[in-house]
Amino acid sequence: MPSHTDVIVLGAGIVGVSAALHAQAHGRAVTIVDRLGVVAGETSAGNSGIVQSEAVFPYVFPRAPVEIAVGALNLDPRVHIRYRSLPWVAPWVWRYFLASSPKARMRTALAMRGLVLRCVAEHRAIAEAAGALALLREGGWIKVYRSSRGEDLALADIEETKPYGIVAAHLNRQQLAALEPCLSALAKGGVHFSEPLSTGDPEALVKAYADLLIRRGGRLAKGDARSLQASGAGWSVATEDVPLQAADAVVALGAWSSDVTRAFGYRLPLGVKRGYHMHYGVQGSATLNRPVYDLEKGYIMAPMARGPRLTTGAEFARRDDPPSSAHLDRLEPSARQLFPLAERLDPQPWLGKRPCLPDMAPVIGPAPRHKGLWFDFGHQHLGLTLGPVSGLLLAQMMAGETPFVDPKPFSAERFG
Ligand SMILES: Cc1cc2nc3c(=O)[nH]c(=O)nc-3n(C[C@H](O)[C@H](O)[C@H](O)COP(=O)(O)OP(=O)(O)OC[C@H]3O[C@@H](n4cnc5c(N)ncnc54)[C@H](O)[C@@H]3O)c2cc1C
Repeated sequence: MPSHTDVIVLGAGIVGVSAALHAQAHGRAVTIVDRLGVVAGETSAGNSGIVQSEAVFPYVFPRAPVEIAVGALNLDPRVHIRYRSLPWVAPWVWRYFLASSPKARMRTALAMRGLVLRCVAEHRAIAEAAGALALLREGGWIKVYRSSRGEDLALADIEETKPYGIVAAHLNRQQLAALEPCLSALAKGGVHFSEPLSTGDPEALVKAYADLLIRRGGRLAKGDARSLQASGAGWSVATEDVPLQAADAVVALGAWSSDVTRAFGYRLPLGVKRGYHMHYGVQGSATLNRPVYDLEKGYIMAPMARGPRLTTGAEFARRDDPPSSAHLDRLEPSARQLFPLAERLDPQPWLGKRPCLPDMAPVIGPAPRHKGLWFDFGHQHLGLTLGPVSGLLLAQMMAGETPFVDPKPFSAERFG
């Protein structure tokens, strides 16, 4: 006998959990189905933990030939290319390049603004209801520069984001040292985005959000989303226990979303930017108070419950290629120059998979040709930031309410 619910949410990362919470708040009975049977078993656990309320502008592919050449030679610390995987990833990278024109970048920024500016409020609301406010840290994050060229780039950022109401303060060396006394003298100054939140444990945060869902009557089941099929007037999916049936199904499978959408005939250009992390001990009693981005060296160091977490930018490889420590190994010496890191704490680098559409905007909304099927994926570098606010937008669309932002830029139909 199948078990009935109103909404099946496929995927128990931050995006799926948030979609489930908002559907539930709209009066629907919800079950999350994840193949791991646990919450935050993939990318949502190991990120840098920043709720980036300043991130209006998307990360675009470089346009200047010199920058492209530097990246192609694996000399740009922000990216790492697995050359053997290039024949498979190149077509997507080409689409990313095409979607990174200044005009397209501005289009994405205007679309994302409405989501990004509300992200802190949505996190606070869920965290408060979940009793998890202590997992959210105030104090923003800092983009640190080492040279006058870095300073120019950082100051340009302040100017560009100012019209969007982003609060950013230029810090000289003394001001930076007052906020982060353990950074070495190589850090000449920085830009402090003071309004974003961060967490010292993204996995615990998503689990706390999921606990709230369960306390309110939601369920979590173990099952493979690829078993999703149309059934009667709705959808069914096989789980470890009984098959589940519902009127609505939400695909929130992050980098694995295309495994399901393709089966229903949607050829969406979902790519993956992989990224790694490693935790470290510290020398003496060194402390880091908030996440720091080393602008010219291309990594983030974030204070986590387990110790400072070094996270890498984008590795271009096939989604399921085996992990490699090459990118992390390239960045670690720079991080050691900036902060007194001690020994590595993890047996090997953790690998996460950022789900990315070429225009760096997520897909949020109905599947164009299937009633009751909904998409919520492709949150690229900002899934932790945008999970809750995307869940709200989706729930409003599912309920037929007027959405709080124009959902058109997030439509699956933008890819034809
Ligand atoms: C190094 C790094 C640093 C980052 N830093 C930040 C940051 O500071 N701030 C920020 O906002 N974002 C950050 N991100 C991005 C963010 O982590 C992601 O955008 C986000 O985690 C994506 O969430 P998701 O729920 O879409 O996917 P995931 O968390 O990957 O969840 C997908 C889920 O789908 C499940 N699944 C997959 N296939 C199946 C199947 N067949 N059946 C059932 N279940 C399945 C998986 O088990 C998983 O639970 C970072 C990412 C990386 C890699």
